[in-house]
Amino acid sequence: MANKAKTTLPGNLSVETELVLAGRDPFRHDGFVNTPIVRGSTVLSPSVADLEGHTGRYTYGRRGNPTVESLESALTRLEGGAGVVLTPSGLSAVSIALLSVLKAGDHLLMVDSAYQPTRRICDEVLTRYGIETTYYDPLIAGDIAGLIRPHTRAIFLESPGSQSFEIQDIPTIVAAASARDITTLMDNTWATPLFFRPHDFGVDVSIQAGTKYLSGHSDLNIGTISANQRTFRRVLATHGDLGITVAPEDAFLASRGLRTMAVRLERHQQSALAVARWLSSRPEVRQVLHPGLPEHPGHALWKRDFKGASGLFSIILEPVPKPAVDAFLDSLALFGLGYSWGGYESLAIPFDCSAYRTATCWTPGGPAIRLQIGLEDPADLIADLDSGFAALAAAR
Ligand SMILES: *Cc1c(COP(=O)(O)O)cnc(C)c1O
Repeated sequence: MANKAKTTLPGNLSVETELVLAGRDPFRHDGFVNTPIVRGSTVLSPSVADLEGHTGRYTYGRRGNPTVESLESALTRLEGGAGVVLTPSGLSAVSIALLSVLKAGDHLLMVDSAYQPTRRICDEVLTRYGIETTYYDPLIAGDIAGLIRPHTRAIFLESPGSQSFEIQDIPTIVAAASARDITTLMDNTWATPLFFRPHDFGVDVSIQAGTKYLSGHSDLNIGTISANQRTFRRVLATHGDLGITVAPEDAFLASRGLRTMAVRLERHQQSALAVARWLSSRPEVRQVLHPGLPEHPGHALWKRDFKGASGLFSIILEPVPKPAVDAFLDSLALFGLGYSWGGYESLAIPFDCSAYRTATCWTPGGPAIRLQIGLEDPADLIADLDSGFAALAAAR
């Protein structure tokens, strides 16, 4: 007789199907569809022999938990690497990944357009442990070879760049790194593995702020580090040695987000493109920084390497005084003013990269605003932005 508990999944399933199935094993949990939230530190053994022989599946809450493991195994399938570890935030995923592959005396090449708090890890933490950072132009491509020193041990990428959306030539940078046995790491939060799989391009360590699209509901912080065969042992050891754990409730919520990630991202993509196209037709807008638009300087590279665009992009307004920009943002009814992104709701923030970039010069020529396009009807969002431009005109 057929037994659902023993059914093996067919191979080469599409990613949408994987998102539904990965990491679940209902008949280990009395048939309940989702892996339950298991809380606990101590794990009991039935005998001394079992305790000393570590015969159980789990030994201690910090070293393994069914809810956490379920998400890790689902993400391992999605990323296509050797394994995934979870961290309590996206930023801690970046710091733990860097600490896993670097040691005192090493040199790191960090992209100048990295998420700003990532720079603080390099400037405030890594320097104290004798690790030196050089920032490089996100558009450097093959010229990165000129920055590599004998003790360069890692190159960190983030594409598109945080806030300013430069697209990096990832295969060329990875080729320069691997020719010299240098580890590559990439913050892939914007694309997620649905639209770009770093390991498929030879990147060793793939990082996501799961806070964003994985969770998708603005209700938690979590980070994910996926590593390939070459690096996973080091990532797992550093993560374990530093005692990093994730709450089972957070892993559960992120797993719930994972199930709908493909449909949400498709909607974010379509709506963001619709809003971006509309904005590019507006006289108030000097430039739309969305790699999915043909006029974006990184469009050809994006099209070559990425399978899609998510819901986050920026605009540069024609020069107007700050009170007019503030009036525009304050008048928006559907766009919240707040940091982070990747949730179901639309957001807007003003930004200025010029204060902290060091390898490149940020001269946008007008006020810059980053938009996260949520799951609302894009026609409503466009109407809201339209009335925002009326408020901008009235205030200038
Ligand atoms: C938000 C973000 C992070 C950090 O995630 P947190 O959960 O807020 O720590 C890291 N990288 C990028 C690109 C981000 O957008």
